[in-house]
Amino acid sequence: MALSEFELIRRYFDRPLAASGRTDIVLGIGDDAAVVTVPDDRDLVLCMDTLVAGVHFPEDTSPGAIGHKALAVNLSDLAAMGAEPVWFTLSVTLPVADEDWLAAFAQDMFRLADHYRVQLIGGDVTRGPLSVTVQAHGLVPRGRALQRAGAAAGDRIYVTGTLGDAGLALRLGAQATPALRQRLDYPSPRIEAGLALRGLASAVIDISDGLLADLGHLLESGELGAVLQVDELPRSAEFRSTMRSANLENSYQEITLTAGDDYELCFAIPSSKCEEAETALAALPGGCTAVGVIKAHPGIRCRRQDGSFWQPAGDQGYQHFRDGNG
Ligand code: ADP
Ligand code: MG
Repeated sequence: MALSEFELIRRYFDRPLAASGRTDIVLGIGDDAAVVTVPDDRDLVLCMDTLVAGVHFPEDTSPGAIGHKALAVNLSDLAAMGAEPVWFTLSVTLPVADEDWLAAFAQDMFRLADHYRVQLIGGDVTRGPLSVTVQAHGLVPRGRALQRAGAAAGDRIYVTGTLGDAGLALRLGAQATPALRQRLDYPSPRIEAGLALRGLASAVIDISDGLLADLGHLLESGELGAVLQVDELPRSAEFRSTMRSANLENSYQEITLTAGDDYELCFAIPSSKCEEAETALAALPGGCTAVGVIKAHPGIRCRRQDGSFWQPAGDQGYQHFRDGNG
């Protein structure tokens, strides 16, 4: 690389701690490793996700969107744990050290980082096919991390935000409207919702592979099932009008339920706490919508408004999907 690795890190990634205002970093970028202080009464929550060009984002994705999304998908995992994001590390593999690319990548990544006061404390830079890995670190009060396991029959199922926007953008490719493309490229991690769900949700997961697949993971730990009211699923106005104009109305349920890349939260709330949860989340980014109920009998049943049941066409590989009439 024309730009030395040291200079590249200094110029694009080594940001003053003042940006996040954090005082819990003993050593940030520049030493052999970072050193941070974890408060005595907190558990440390760790997650890592890699984005590979052409696999996790289209090849034509802007550098800013890649920077934002690499951090956002990790913050979404922390949100699902009810964790407050605090630090992250970043490994970037680049075919070339293109300074315009790096500047745009860093700008949008740090815009999101600064919004949540999360500080980049270290990482790695290598040369090769474009790929970006972030490891995010969060804190929760000891023993209070939210989990996928824990839902019980009778709990209500909710999702934040709207579903299907990003999946529709992927499906439409270059024909996607700017608003839909924005939802694919710049997902909003539901950090505030995750924090509000501590002590209220019996189970939480973030939706990265589509609601059906991810709700399936939430149910599998308890050998539970669910009935989803699929006509009640939250869809944006942009989603609805684009589905109409693109003549995709036959794929309405399929795109909402299976297309993925939503980065919304799906969670279960015991009925005694539903009112409190609905009130708390109504005031937060994304809000929430009740979409179904946890059942004791395994399988996800997708009920239409007219009482019929919707099923994904063909074998979509969702092991948790079983037909039936529950
Ligand atoms: P080492 O040879 O010890 O791995 P590096 O030259 O890879 O050191 O990194 C030097 C310092 O810069 C380390 O503190 C490392 O964490 C940090 N660093 C390297 N790459 C990045 C990056 N992409 N983002 C943030 N910090 C980075
Ligand atoms: Mg290194």
